[in-house]
Amino acid sequence: MIAQPKASHFVNGDWMEDSAGALIEVINPATGDVIARLHEATPAVLDAALASAQAAQSDWAARKPVERGRILRRAADMIRDQGESLARLETLDTGKPLQETLVADWPSGADALEYFGGLVPTVTGETIPLGGDFAYTLREPLGVCVGIGAWNYPSQIACWKSAPALAMGNAMVFKPSEITPLGALQLAEIFIEAGLPAGLFNVVQGRAAVGARLVTDPRVAKVSLTGSVPTGRKVYAAAADGVRHVTMELGGKSPLIIFEDADMESAVGAAMMANFYSAGQICSNGTRVFVQKGIKAAFLERLAARTQKIVLGDPMKMETQMGPLVSAAQVDKVMGYVNGAVAQGARLICGGAQTGMFVEPTVFADVTDTMLLAQEEVFGPVMAVLDFDTEEEVVSRSNSTDFGLAAGVFTADLSRAHRVIGALQAGTCWINTYNLTPVEMPFGGVKMSGVGRENGKAALDYYSQIKSVYVGMGPVDAPY
Ligand code: NAD
Repeated sequence: MIAQPKASHFVNGDWMEDSAGALIEVINPATGDVIARLHEATPAVLDAALASAQAAQSDWAARKPVERGRILRRAADMIRDQGESLARLETLDTGKPLQETLVADWPSGADALEYFGGLVPTVTGETIPLGGDFAYTLREPLGVCVGIGAWNYPSQIACWKSAPALAMGNAMVFKPSEITPLGALQLAEIFIEAGLPAGLFNVVQGRAAVGARLVTDPRVAKVSLTGSVPTGRKVYAAAADGVRHVTMELGGKSPLIIFEDADMESAVGAAMMANFYSAGQICSNGTRVFVQKGIKAAFLERLAARTQKIVLGDPMKMETQMGPLVSAAQVDKVMGYVNGAVAQGARLICGGAQTGMFVEPTVFADVTDTMLLAQEEVFGPVMAVLDFDTEEEVVSRSNSTDFGLAAGVFTADLSRAHRVIGALQAGTCWINTYNLTPVEMPFGGVKMSGVGRENGKAALDYYSQIKSVYVGMGPVDAPY
């Protein structure tokens, strides 16, 4: 199947091509077929995108928030109307099963557009009484924002970044991952049809160097990256040179702690969701599953039984629960961790095999804190189960990582649940569930997992800045 867009880029309200840019072949990971050929953005394309964003932004910011919101909500409706065809494209681009892309990817993007479109008219400043004088504050947009996406949730990421940015009156130049570049182009087209003025949302394609060029352009006020920690460090440092605002949504190695009194079926189901959804290619996954020793055997037995029933195969079939990994490089990386875990003495409970681009859902038990599997982000369908005895011990081991994206706890003891969550160093947490990320809830990490938040009311703070205005009501009292 071919999914060739009209051109590589979408700039100033229209498709744009410059075949001088290096070739990007877009591969359907399920078949290995090349489904589109794009070109990286040349400096001329980047300049056109940034110039059009800059030109369009101030008029957009001057519009009433309710008008901006209406356009975003219209785009949300259009996404829902085209839900099935968008999901199919997402599945072609990423390899994720249709049963996921129909309900998770674009639908969550539409939620973001609806939410921020509705929220932005409620944003107000404060008035600050100062005796006879007073001050007030305004929340102003930042200007031109750059969004850079990871490959795992390409369309959701494009929506999660553009929705709060545009709602607050900014313009955005978005660079999707070179591995999954197609969904963002669809979003750009939908925005135009929904009535967004040209130039406010531009999509440019390219690899790391194109992203790096965007981050340092003097016209750019903010950079929002979703990606790995090593990329985050580079982008954060480059943005610092121009004292630009940043949001960094980076990787994780999150703990999911299961106490003996937890509901077993829910805990097993959550551990599977936390490791196998999207073939494990999710930043917030609970990839260190700490199971209290008393239930270890029963937990592993139920986990193995349910894991072995996961239907692996053609992601376009509705019955398929897990598709291929996104790329051959990702398969190699994940199998490296699987083989390394065996070599380091972890006990393989189920899975572990690879056929082409497909990796079986894999569970390792008896994983210890020092094994690579417990320390590094695998980004594949590989669950590490670790044992623990006490609450104090598991909290301390959970926190002994540089990451801090997410964490979860399963227990029937309410006080313990809140006490443990209170002690965990993580930005996004769940009690008796895992990996639910509704747009209403702020999402993001602490420590090396990131800076800033997406979603929730908090996201608008990261796409705006405060102007304080002091109003003198009497004569100026000068000492000279
Ligand atoms: P990556 O870091 O390799 O690339 C992310 C994006 O950054 C890509 O678009 C890439 O082209 C671009 N890029 C790379 N180097 C750059 C540079 N020097 N300057 C500017 N741009 C540059 O990540 P990936 O492999 O695409 O995605 C997987 C990673 O993303 C995982 O670590 C995962 O945890 C993380 N992730 C985080 C979240 C979150 O919300 N916290 C969500 C999804 C994925």
